[in-house]
Amino acid sequence: MAYIKGAERHETCFLCDAAAAAREQDEANLVVARGHASFVILNLFPYNTGHLMVAPYRHVGELEDLSEDEVTEIWTWTRRSVAAHRETSQPHGFNIGINLGQVAGAGVPGHFHLHVVPRWGGDTNFMPVTADTKVLPEMLAETYQRLRPLLEG
Ligand SMILES: [Zn+2]
Repeated sequence: MAYIKGAERHETCFLCDAAAAAREQDEANLVVARGHASFVILNLFPYNTGHLMVAPYRHVGELEDLSEDEVTEIWTWTRRSVAAHRETSQPHGFNIGINLGQVAGAGVPGHFHLHVVPRWGGDTNFMPVTADTKVLPEMLAETYQRLRPLLEG
């Protein structure tokens, strides 16, 4: 945990909270995998089933603030996330994206995160949006159990 203790941490940031929490709390916090510089977490409010986010441990918001190690590891997690999804749920495609800044739609503008969202043909048709709650065909706990063994490596 040394790499986390040395980093700046924001009190109101759920990514910092999840990163700094004990590993025993990873499942409760939806942390799927941890690396040296970054980690993978399920989105509690997913756009679609299997929506993952990859983030550095450090509370930095801008792409250019990332270290080379963080950039490399975040892309490695992204590649492994895509592979894990392909192996377990056969998506037809993916949306992989980064929102930089509040105006661009970043939910947590101070803490960089990359979204990995698997897509299936017609998936928008069976995900009605009702009062900001999307109906998802798979529960988060099931998604977690499905992906964790593959991502932990
Ligand atoms: Zn943070």
